[in-house]
Amino acid sequence: MTLKRIASKSNKKARNCLKCNRRLTNLKDNVVNTCEGCGQQHLVDFYTNNTIVLTVAERPELRRRPGEPKAADPEPEQNQEAFKEALEAFRKKWKGV
Ligand SMILES: [Zn+2]
Repeated sequence: MTLKRIASKSNKKARNCLKCNRRLTNLKDNVVNTCEGCGQQHLVDFYTNNTIVLTVAERPELRRRPGEPKAADPEPEQNQEAFKEALEAFRKKWKGV
């Protein structure tokens, strides 16, 4: 069984059940959709770039909400500040030699 599907809205399969491939009705962003055929539950995410992402309810860890930042990414500003400091330290070090 497919656990997750990322598909364009124009793709006919984008709205199909991950388990039995039956067309899912009343797909709504961020609302759990239950297949009328087999009862499979889907986590639904509509992305702004016309993409529909379906994830089976049993595997919520596979899901990522639109615009959700990756936990590991530092703030861009802090990142640049740290880079400048490192560059400065690098320059001082080499001037001294
Ligand atoms: Zn189904």
